[in-house]
Amino acid sequence: MILIKGGTTIDGSRAERNDVLVDGDRIVEIGKIDAPGAEVIDASGKYVTPGFIDVHNHGDILLTRAPDGVNLLTQGITSIVVGNCGVSALPISGNDSILMNEEKRKWDAPQDYFHELREKGLAVNVGFLLGQGSLRAMVAGQAPGALSHEQRERIKSIAREYIDRFGFLGISSGLIYAPGSYTSPEEMVDLLSVLGPNHVYKTHLRNEGDTVEEATKEALDTALASGVRLQLAHHKAAGRKNWGKTESTLRMVDTARKKGLDVGTEVYLYPGAHTSLSVVLPKELYAKEGLTREFLARVMGDPAAEAFSNQKGIQSWCGNTWDDVYITLSKNPEYSGMRLTDIARSFGRSPYQTAVQLLIDDPLIKATLDNMMGEEDIRRVLSHETSVVASDGFIYDSGKPELCHPRNYGNIARLFSSYVPSVLPLEDAVHKTTQLPAERYNLQARGRLLPGYFADIAVFSGLEDHATVARPTELSTGMSYVLLNGNIVVEGGRLAQKKEGVFLTQYSK
Ligand SMILES: [Zn+2]
Repeated sequence: MILIKGGTTIDGSRAERNDVLVDGDRIVEIGKIDAPGAEVIDASGKYVTPGFIDVHNHGDILLTRAPDGVNLLTQGITSIVVGNCGVSALPISGNDSILMNEEKRKWDAPQDYFHELREKGLAVNVGFLLGQGSLRAMVAGQAPGALSHEQRERIKSIAREYIDRFGFLGISSGLIYAPGSYTSPEEMVDLLSVLGPNHVYKTHLRNEGDTVEEATKEALDTALASGVRLQLAHHKAAGRKNWGKTESTLRMVDTARKKGLDVGTEVYLYPGAHTSLSVVLPKELYAKEGLTREFLARVMGDPAAEAFSNQKGIQSWCGNTWDDVYITLSKNPEYSGMRLTDIARSFGRSPYQTAVQLLIDDPLIKATLDNMMGEEDIRRVLSHETSVVASDGFIYDSGKPELCHPRNYGNIARLFSSYVPSVLPLEDAVHKTTQLPAERYNLQARGRLLPGYFADIAVFSGLEDHATVARPTELSTGMSYVLLNGNIVVEGGRLAQKKEGVFLTQYSK
């Protein structure tokens, strides 16, 4: 037994002095407790909360490399949900070129994926969404256009299998990415008929900038027509010229809720977006030929292409500038963390020419576009009663830090250090990272400190993020102890290197 003694517990809307007694994988008692023989964790001067639940993670494939989850556990995150934005490791498909094709090829059956995760162990609890884009790719590849009746029926039967047999929590879509972008609202409503009342439909909207209001309406209409529970992923208004639009999108959410629609929102707490560097070039520039090396080499010195890119690139679609672009992940690590305009100065070239050169050197190069979201919008979504805080990040290993978006290493810690109490009281911040996400995704007996609940517990004080755009892998500080299913996995601020996570499944219809 483990006794967490003398801390301030926060559960629901209450903060009070309590001890917490853990036996096996469960919480057994809360109150003033003496438990002779129990291992004691001194929590005096610290907060004791449920382990945090991050419902937006993209670590589907990274999980198979058995990461120790250092970026998550140092923030007290004990559960994640993967399979977001329409992209998931399953179903296995020969035609899925969205990502991770290479790694998927080694599995013959869905069980192989789960078997591999079980063998290697999980650093945190993991729940799964089924990606609609991955699903569609399985029956139609990357082909645009509507699905045939047979293809729709096939998709539904595969989805039913994953939900009934493997306990998936719901379906996600990424309507901005091919092939999810080829999906009509009517096709989506048809697919969502496989979900039961305990499942969730989570969508990365068709557009998050210029037409975010229309895209929000589409998501709400889809949920209304199919009767499913809806989650709006990483809700935002992208691009300087669209800042402020969350006021009207949240009003639409409120109106839909008044009509009885079960809709929630999610938010990460950074103004920067993380994406491929190629988005800084206008799509019209390479629509015919694609972003091949030959094409890029040809347009690098072309003044007309440069003028067109300066006019129609990042500035025009989001109102941002070259100064907002930072390189994160690249084959050439010397650029990581650098601002594009600084690299341009060192090259003695223009920002446009520099971006093209970097894309020639590494077509998969990633960038953080800073100042995509306005702080006012972030605060507005965070304050909204429906929102949960979720990172849109990955799971990493302490041995191999990967340059990425700072939200991977600091999103939850940032909530407590930068938004409490100026935007939210502490109790609300805990609610949005524990009980509320557990309820939205129907995670049984998690997200609260109650007898009978799983002992996922965070013990901390002065939780603070240190990851920045330029130094995204700096660990958060302040987390003293983390319990995962009753096991101590962070002890005195250090990772205990145990794999005590379990699958979070949802079988009841
Ligand atoms: Zn997304």
